Amino acid sequence: MAQLELNGLSKRYGEFQAARDITLSVAEGEFVALLGPSGCGKTTTLRMIAGFVEPTSGAIHLGGRDITGLPPWKRDTGLVFQSYALFPHLTVAQNVAFGLEMRKVSPAEIAPRVEEALRLVRLAGFGERLPSQLSGGQQQRVALARALVFRPDVLLLDEPLSNLDAKLRHEVRVEIRELQRALGITTVMVTHDQEEALTMADRLVVMSEGRVRQVGTQRDLYERPADRFVAGFVGRSTFLEGMIEAPGRFRTSGGLEIRCANGASGVTGQAVIALRPERITVAPTAPVNAENCLPGTTEFVSYLGGLLDVHVRLASEERVIVQIPNRAENNLPQIGDEVFVSWPAASANVFTAGDD
Ligand code: ATP
Repeated sequence: MAQLELNGLSKRYGEFQAARDITLSVAEGEFVALLGPSGCGKTTTLRMIAGFVEPTSGAIHLGGRDITGLPPWKRDTGLVFQSYALFPHLTVAQNVAFGLEMRKVSPAEIAPRVEEALRLVRLAGFGERLPSQLSGGQQQRVALARALVFRPDVLLLDEPLSNLDAKLRHEVRVEIRELQRALGITTVMVTHDQEEALTMADRLVVMSEGRVRQVGTQRDLYERPADRFVAGFVGRSTFLEGMIEAPGRFRTSGGLEIRCANGASGVTGQAVIALRPERITVAPTAPVNAENCLPGTTEFVSYLGGLLDVHVRLASEERVIVQIPNRAENNLPQIGDEVFVSWPAASANVFTAGDD
């Protein structure tokens, strides 16, 4: 049984629909990330689960129980905010104890639970400090302890790492993921950072304009994005607009013929092809037997250290981006080089108008 179920969850603010018909099952112990651009409805969805935003329609079940109408403090959820929202005048231990005191948990029970929560986030011995005496990463761990002290059924993380600097973010990412695994706690995290979602979550929910566009593992989303939006949002893609003339044959708006792997669908008409930069090969000569091979000119080379981005202008003036590893044996392309780009038909995703 799913631990957390969202069924047709919607939120309307006046005429504005912030979340539309969100349906999602999260299994016990699973880590799911809600990912999408700013304003897509991620936080609204998380706050509906936490009970801080009342849904306009739809239902939320936690462990089989309908919690849709319950106030936040009667749900077994623990929420960690982006701003740690610690009380500056209270010690670390008092911050962690605060919610338990509000819920009238007996003092005899509070002390060991606070100690356990601080131990879990590796802050044992820090209980008497004030938040101002902690680093940003430590403060975020206090915020986490404050959520875990309730022993919640679901942990809700709202952009938990966005206030940390890049190095710390990488460390805390791993810490949270390890703790989540060790505790087996069902977790829903909101983030707009795809790398964060990709490295932490078991499954990703890609949202835009209040809707769920696709739910899947990292691999599902990257290899088989459901639509053009997901193909552009998760990882990078070069898009070539055009028409499917016949099953397996695509013609770009600039007139280039491309073989694609949509033969089974039999759909023809206006479409777009999405190419991942690392699935394209660039070479000074045309490879033998390539399913797609187009001549072009290197227009721009971006040196990224371990990788190079090579922008190639095709004969039709359309452009593709190719990513190649920066290996010593590679003859690095130079601007103005005449090259050939090639890729197998199956490595491109084809979207027709019906996919959006
Ligand atoms: P971000 O990454 O910027 O936090 P988000 O995906 O979390 O974005 P939400 O905070 O869920 O987005 O907001 C979704 C939309 O709903 C936004 O356009 C926002 O302006 C709108 N919205 C959120 N809260 C309210 C409110 N109380 N009243 C009116 N509109 C709101």
